Amino acid sequence: MMATVKCTYESCDQWFPSEREMQLHKYIDEKHDYCRRCDYDGTSWDDLLQHKIDAMAPYLFELKKLEREDKKKGKKIMHVVCEFCGEEFKTWSGRDKHRTQVSQSLLVLRLHGPRKGR
Ligand SMILES: [Zn+2]
Ligand SMILES: [Zn+2]
Ligand SMILES: [Zn+2]
Repeated sequence: MMATVKCTYESCDQWFPSEREMQLHKYIDEKHDYCRRCDYDGTSWDDLLQHKIDAMAPYLFELKKLEREDKKKGKKIMHVVCEFCGEEFKTWSGRDKHRTQVSQSLLVLRLHGPRKGR
């Protein structure tokens, strides 16, 4: 098999027999911050996180409407992500649960953290 497709990251000079395999490489290679769902080449972990947040943001306000539209188009581009740690979830309730845990531990930190002297 001939390798005819180059990795789209300029810094990477690996070649692959097909687009599919090239995308799989970007997905599994730790050097690449690639979003497989949107075929988005992130330049850094932060950039990829920002991409996910941007994709998620409209859904926070118009979830039902946008979900209906995705269904019509037969394609789902939504990301459900925690903007603090970048973790992704399959469901909104999974994200909510995670965020409750995180905010609780932040609260604990605030309650028991070092006191500021007056
Ligand atoms: Zn690559
Ligand atoms: Zn994406
Ligand atoms: Zn988180």
